[in-house]
Amino acid sequence: MKRILGFPVEKIIKSNRKTVSIEVTDNATLIIKTPTYVRIADIEKIIQKNYQWLKNRLEIAQKSRQFKTKRFVNGEKFLYLGQLYPLEIKQNLSKPLIFNDKFYLRFDARPYAREIFTNWYKQQAAKNFYRRALIFAPLMGVEFNQIKISSARKRWGSCSNKKNINIVWRLIMAPQAIIDYVIVHELAHLKHMDHSKNFWKLVESVYPNYKKAINWLKEYGPYLDI
Ligand SMILES: [Zn+2]
Repeated sequence: MKRILGFPVEKIIKSNRKTVSIEVTDNATLIIKTPTYVRIADIEKIIQKNYQWLKNRLEIAQKSRQFKTKRFVNGEKFLYLGQLYPLEIKQNLSKPLIFNDKFYLRFDARPYAREIFTNWYKQQAAKNFYRRALIFAPLMGVEFNQIKISSARKRWGSCSNKKNINIVWRLIMAPQAIIDYVIVHELAHLKHMDHSKNFWKLVESVYPNYKKAINWLKEYGPYLDI
């Protein structure tokens, strides 16, 4: 792969756009989009300018990639509510996947392991998120309709004008305190549709440490995956 200033560059796409954009892919590479007339020296300058940011983003992409490529083998660890639990493959189990301080996966279910794990996480997420929203909503003076489980990639939560809240199932891998922050954030949007001062005041009233949670999600969010 081509490298520019040490960074792996998957592709340079030239088109009649006016500016240069640099995208960090999930594979921990860069895709650079440039106007047709741009020279390599110009691209280098832009990379230089954003060096630290790009370096951080590539590191995060790399780590999350390692974390993501689960092989579903004995001893491999899986996150649930902020803790890592080992997997054990077993021959005779009443269900394909059982959680009891360890994850037990039935031997014949291995080809579908990722799907089985995903479904299990989604089920836990649905129960957990709903239970927590029921606690926070009255404290915040808001009412919600449904908590829906989403598979979005770019955001942890969203809400609709039908008072439904969508929260990403992968969040069930995070500690409860982090889950609670995302729930509180979305519940607060039922009252304030923006990120205004009043919005953050409402968040803070039930979740004083919200800045810590935001930073946690930035740093560790990419690891919440299988
Ligand atoms: Zn928001």
